[in-house]
Amino acid sequence: MQLLDGKSLSATICQNIKDQLSSYPLTQRPALAFILIGNNSASQTYVRMKKKRCEEVGIQSETIALPETISEKTLIDTIDSLNHNPSIDAILVQQPLPKHVNTERIFEAVDPKKDVDGLHPLNLGKLLIGEPTGFFPCTPLGILKLLEAYKIDPKGRHVVIIGRSNIVGKPLAAMLAQKKPYCNATVTLAHHFTQNLTEVCLLADILIAATGHPHLIDQTMVKPGAVVIDVGITRLADSTQKIKIVGDIHFDQVAPIASAITPVPGGVGPMTIAMLLSNTVKSFQNRRPHLKIVK
Ligand code: NAD
Repeated sequence: MQLLDGKSLSATICQNIKDQLSSYPLTQRPALAFILIGNNSASQTYVRMKKKRCEEVGIQSETIALPETISEKTLIDTIDSLNHNPSIDAILVQQPLPKHVNTERIFEAVDPKKDVDGLHPLNLGKLLIGEPTGFFPCTPLGILKLLEAYKIDPKGRHVVIIGRSNIVGKPLAAMLAQKKPYCNATVTLAHHFTQNLTEVCLLADILIAATGHPHLIDQTMVKPGAVVIDVGITRLADSTQKIKIVGDIHFDQVAPIASAITPVPGGVGPMTIAMLLSNTVKSFQNRRPHLKIVK
């Protein structure tokens, strides 16, 4: 069994970004703005982790913290001022959003050229038709990079994805089905209403779980020799009330029969952050096509 080490691959990608940015004039650094709404502790942790990585590679970042009670209009106005701010290259609105806010309207408000989360309908449309000038959502992009780095080619293989969110499952299915290197897969997208989930999972050459249901997938649901990718992140308290992060896959049961598997933590999570940095640099470069490298 091969462990797909997203932590180490992410560190390599981040180092490459750092080296690349250090070749630009000191006054020219990408800038990423986070919008963080409310007091959700997981969201605060995610933004803190992303900011730390930004700092490490030389990306400037700022957090705009807004109250949970913010109106949709004020939130859209805040996004719009970032859209028009020439010193901001990238915008990320941290999810989940408050219930009274329409998520689609918020993602549509972000300038697609600064939409490094890849959730604007224009970027999702480009993804669907295989147009590479858009931004692809970071988690699916990170999974594709991980497969490619380990030379696991989905071409012609049956990929089963469990979970059909707009941020993971749906874009990942569309990306894996593209006529492109390290794609060309036959994709099944399973979800809550899928009947006989075990039988569907057993068809997978590559099984990707993105449900948020801890340990949903045990060894009875995995074909021996399958590649298994775990996107899920759930915080569970153990018997001593210590918080442990677990995925959707029952790792101890599945690892012995899989040909390759991602750990949680240390698999898909770090790849997501690396792709956010990579998308931010892409936006920065798109906006400064004539930037000269300093030798
Ligand atoms: P979501 O809640 O928007 O979607 C979950 C999907 O899973 C839904 O389509 C639902 O139908 C399906 N599902 C849930 N329980 C199921 C079950 N028992 N059987 C079949 N289908 C089921 O979630 P999301 O935003 O896509 O996130 C999913 C998980 O991935 C969460 O744990 C989240 O924290 C994690 N996540 C991790 C990363 C990362 O970088 N590792 C990034 C994004 C999300």
